[in-house]
Amino acid sequence: MNTNKYDVIIIGAGGAGLMCAAEAGKRGRRVLVLDHNQEIGRKILISGGGRCNFTNLGARPECYVSGNKHFAKSALSRYSPQDFIKLVEKHRIAYYEKKLGQLFCRDSASQIVDMLLKEAREVKVEFKLNRRITKVEKPDRFLVSDDRGELHEAPCLVVATGGLSIPQIGATGFGYDLARQFGLKITELAPALDGFDWRDSDLSEFTNLAGISLDALVSCNKASFRENILFTHKGLSGPASLQASLYFKKGSPLSIDLLPDLSVEDFLVQAKQKHGKQEVKNILSEILPKRFAEYFARHLAIKGTIANLDGKKTKLLIDNLKSWQVMPGSTVGYKKAEVTRGGVETACLSSTTMEAKAVSGLFFIGEVVDVTGWLGGYNFQWAWASAYAAAQAL
Ligand SMILES: Cc1cc2nc3c(=O)[nH]c(=O)nc-3n(C[C@H](O)[C@H](O)[C@H](O)COP(=O)(O)OP(=O)(O)OC[C@H]3O[C@@H](n4cnc5c(N)ncnc54)[C@H](O)[C@@H]3O)c2cc1C
Repeated sequence: MNTNKYDVIIIGAGGAGLMCAAEAGKRGRRVLVLDHNQEIGRKILISGGGRCNFTNLGARPECYVSGNKHFAKSALSRYSPQDFIKLVEKHRIAYYEKKLGQLFCRDSASQIVDMLLKEAREVKVEFKLNRRITKVEKPDRFLVSDDRGELHEAPCLVVATGGLSIPQIGATGFGYDLARQFGLKITELAPALDGFDWRDSDLSEFTNLAGISLDALVSCNKASFRENILFTHKGLSGPASLQASLYFKKGSPLSIDLLPDLSVEDFLVQAKQKHGKQEVKNILSEILPKRFAEYFARHLAIKGTIANLDGKKTKLLIDNLKSWQVMPGSTVGYKKAEVTRGGVETACLSSTTMEAKAVSGLFFIGEVVDVTGWLGGYNFQWAWASAYAAAQAL
């Protein structure tokens, strides 16, 4: 069997793998990128609705969930959103801020893939696609075998195989298995940024709300997000629900402020004074979608006019409008999740280089690591930053 020798082998041609390949190549390393997909950067291509939300101007360590909240600091500080923006501008890719610091390509996510590929090809990175990795060994250097019977050898191996979300486009648990093979630990994994499914027993209560969208403040396990929520046939979606799902653990309730900008108490006092004869559900329709207002009054067993709403029912209404407690059954799952929460335990890795502390030359970057960002460009920023950090050590 022929052995192909490199300085660095990277498994995974997604955002993290491509960035790492280009940066290591710039440092004069002979780099090979292996991927089991035929197409490079498939997740980038479908990201941001086809326009790739490639970074967030507000990316900072607090926007990431990890077993060690300090782990991402070093990498994020050494490769900032501005660094990626410079690259995007160098390639004359038009972009815009959609909202909340989220930067998107004006035309197409494929421009980001083309840009990274161009950067990598300029420094002679080699790609071998459509390869299933059959074995990885490390007698001294790393030996990577593939299903075409080729053997690849390098002193450094970078694992950039991402998480489990969207298996339809090639996501696998390969990176976790490889980490375990070399004695590294994996934290608990869960689909995230996917929103919620109701418990089966609650489905009939909520299905009639499908299609309703509200601006709300959703809190889950002490994290709160203010954006839209959308009732689906099976659960809750919309950006605020997706964000909250990053913090969800089985049995965690959601607390939803349905009117984050309104003092409900003042509103009800005025409504009693001015429109005492109106039914509560009609009063609620002034501040909430009609269908939701009707459901809410029924759900709280509030009937009759606002003038007749006694102190106990008024308090019940205020408490529920400002802190409606709902208990999802689960998040939606890997078929819809933007990311996998959890990954290679950060305690096993150097936060400056992403190298495994116990296995010299073995690096983990991007989503496979236990660093998971909010919705809005944060996960790509982590992919770029962790890749850049590793590349400086290769
Ligand atoms: C629908 C969707 C939209 C998203 N939109 C955004 C967005 O707009 N902004 C944002 O910041 N984040 C977004 N994300 C999240 C973001 O795409 C990921 O966090 C990011 O792509 C992770 O980069 P990565 O390089 O670590 O992994 P990936 O991009 O997943 O790349 C992993 C690579 O490894 C390869 N691979 C996997 N298993 C094997 C194996 N066994 N052998 C060989 N190769 C293998 C895969 O084929 C793939 O090429 C989105 C995710 C999804 C699913």
